[in-house]
Amino acid sequence: MIFFATVRRAVSVASVSSISPALEFFLASVPDTDGLGFAQAWISRAGCPGGFEVRHVLDRHEDTNALRPLNPAELRKLAHFDVNGAFRPLRSSPDLVQGWIYKASSPQALEEGIQELYPGAIADFYSAREGAGAAISYRDYCNRQTGMYRITAMLSDMDAARAAKACCASRFCLKRRLWTIPGLPEDGAGEKSLVPCLEPCALMMEFARKAFRVSEEPSINLSLKPSELETILEVLRSRPDEKTEIRHADFGHPRNPRRIEMALMALPATPAEPPIAG
Ligand code: SF4
Repeated sequence: MIFFATVRRAVSVASVSSISPALEFFLASVPDTDGLGFAQAWISRAGCPGGFEVRHVLDRHEDTNALRPLNPAELRKLAHFDVNGAFRPLRSSPDLVQGWIYKASSPQALEEGIQELYPGAIADFYSAREGAGAAISYRDYCNRQTGMYRITAMLSDMDAARAAKACCASRFCLKRRLWTIPGLPEDGAGEKSLVPCLEPCALMMEFARKAFRVSEEPSINLSLKPSELETILEVLRSRPDEKTEIRHADFGHPRNPRRIEMALMALPATPAEPPIAG
């Protein structure tokens, strides 16, 4: 569950020379009362006079004493693994572990903590402020790639859009994608979180390489009955990947979650005809 701050405080933050414009902008977004949902972090000024408190957004009503206090190094370790101990290749994936609290006695300490959870997010949040236009398009980004990522520029707009829709889906990543592909506009405000994505990440680039190789394969023409298609769609939509140990970044595996998402896009959304009863 994601929470979005709807109010930007107009108050100015005390001018401290070591506070960057990005941090100042971020601090001004944390309300005096309530809190700010920043992906899965819940940031508030409550309970920490002169400072800030960060906890999992789902723990925002939890008794503080029931949460484990963490320091920045422990936050970094926490952010690396999901609840099952599996490595999280994306810090913005929606599986941040719950049950902790980070107390920041200063704006800089808050910045340090957020940096461990969502590296670069405060700077990106500032870059993406209204009218800043900081995002780069998929085409511009891929056209300047060299080496193994050059082939990502050869994906058609349709295949690149399909890959991005699969890779950046909210069940995989909470960043709001601001970079675009012809035919695929940026994520809408409020769709995912306040953390912006300004350019394709390494995982997306790797997935685009896989999508290009898939696009080069010869097509197979299948003749399916509506009921057979219905079964296939039902199985794929049941998220079989969530019950397996397949790593999210293992794009060579046919049951990789993003590959399943992309395969679904190649199929009709519904069977052409209603299944035959009985
Ligand atoms: S490119 Fe997509 S998956 Fe990667 S961080 Fe951005 S929104 Fe998330």
